[in-house]
Amino acid sequence: ITVFYHLCVCVVLSAFRSICGEDGISLGEAVREQHGKDESVHRCCPPDVVVFPHCVEEVSALAKVCHNHHLPIIPFGTGTGLEGGVGALKGGVCFSLRNMDQVLDLHQEDFDVTVEPGVTRKALNAYLRETGLWFPVDPGADASLCGMAATSASGTNAVRYGTMRENVLNLEVVLADGTIIHTAGKGRRPRKTSAGYNLTNLFVGSEGTLGIITKSTLRLYGIPEAMVSAVCSFPSVQAAVDSTVQVLQAGVPIARIEFLDEVMIDACNRFSSLSYPVTPTLFLEFHGSERSVEEQVNLTEDITQSNGGSDFQWARDAETRNSLWKARHDAWYAALALRPGCKAYSTDVCVPLSRLPQIIVETKEDLMENRLTGPIAGHVGDGNFHCLMVVDPSDPEEQHRVHLFTERLARRALAMDGTCTGEHGVGLGKRALLCEEVGHTAINVMQGLKDALDPKNLMNPGKVLKEITNTVF
Ligand SMILES: Cc1cc2nc3c(=O)[nH]c(=O)nc-3n(C[C@H](O)[C@H](O)[C@H](O)COP(=O)(O)OP(=O)(O)OC[C@H]3O[C@@H](n4cnc5c(N)ncnc54)[C@H](O)[C@@H]3O)c2cc1C
Repeated sequence: ITVFYHLCVCVVLSAFRSICGEDGISLGEAVREQHGKDESVHRCCPPDVVVFPHCVEEVSALAKVCHNHHLPIIPFGTGTGLEGGVGALKGGVCFSLRNMDQVLDLHQEDFDVTVEPGVTRKALNAYLRETGLWFPVDPGADASLCGMAATSASGTNAVRYGTMRENVLNLEVVLADGTIIHTAGKGRRPRKTSAGYNLTNLFVGSEGTLGIITKSTLRLYGIPEAMVSAVCSFPSVQAAVDSTVQVLQAGVPIARIEFLDEVMIDACNRFSSLSYPVTPTLFLEFHGSERSVEEQVNLTEDITQSNGGSDFQWARDAETRNSLWKARHDAWYAALALRPGCKAYSTDVCVPLSRLPQIIVETKEDLMENRLTGPIAGHVGDGNFHCLMVVDPSDPEEQHRVHLFTERLARRALAMDGTCTGEHGVGLGKRALLCEEVGHTAINVMQGLKDALDPKNLMNPGKVLKEITNTVF
């Protein structure tokens, strides 16, 4: 067996080298470890080898080799995922897509662009700077856009511009056997379509379990004429969330509306040298023409005041706006800084808006009762919020309490007709919750789709769906 094993390894490695060159593969321990872990608390599971293809043809040829030798394939974007999605649970081959980093086919007049999988959201917006266009989906990290498609990511702008689901028009995907498909047809980029099954949205959120996304065609937006950001403090969580609901009900086309509880705002104040009152707070942003933005700001200020909001401060200048949103995007690191040496885990439930005040209030009580540090930051306009759990990795008892808390929170969200994950994905930790959320019949349909596209269970095995077959080399 050993001789056979070594022979196979030599054959596979030499096939990989002939496809993407000596520089295009790495067996180094440090490189493998770097690719066996994301930003989550899940432990590192290094792949056996990392490949760095340069084009879709190379991705396809590498996948064919893996397919012939029953090797797991784990796509890797920028490794900023929060659910353990890139760990090689069964070993196998990590496909790092960072060398495919070209922005292709920008159609300014049609508001769309196609990108390769190594392009990050910040790199795309830097590329677009002179065009008057931008791509609004903004997870806190500078993630790859195809990784964002793979996790169905969103961020602070989703309330106005939607998530990756609404903003991907077409995907080029390499299937486990190396077949290349275009989910909406090659080169197609209509704004809407009724043509057949929605394969694009099947791959959005598939977390590398159905195929490797090698191109995404994305919707773009015009940079608004005017942008104003605002901050407002509230006497209670209920008052902040009630204001959010009323702003949306009033039809204000709010671009961003983010909730921070008093623990989170305190952490942000310390981390980002700010001095906001330490009470439940909303960060807001308004986009539009000068006149429309003024109307939006006035109406929102009236609504917040009627709910007891105070210190409504707004800013037009880019510097103040950028520092506000940088502080919001740094919330993860601000939470970590509360307890140096600790690790962070983010919950990600999402509920219908009307249930938001109740779930946040109950969750804060749960945190207090169980002596846990979990500042809350939320994309409240979407009913999605995160408890940024800061945990001592050397304290198993605390880790256990956090685990029980996160399960209770997810079940609370399910009981309120919500989901256990609004934007981070299922990965490793939420596979059982996914079953509870969608039920066994829907899980069976998902498994049927997985079996049809990846009958050998090679694509990122063990993620999203619990594994049935074992396909290790
Ligand atoms: C500080 C911080 C803040 C964050 N804030 C947010 C937030 O506000 N909203 C949000 O949605 N997320 C957030 N995230 C999570 C993370 O940025 C997103 O999940 C992002 O979409 C991951 O992209 P990535 O390129 O880093 O993917 P990776 O971490 O590399 O991979 C994630 C998953 O996608 C798969 N994958 C990656 N690339 C491909 C591909 N080309 N084809 C097929 N599968 C692929 C991987 O196999 C894995 O299962 C945050 C993370 C951090 C660290």
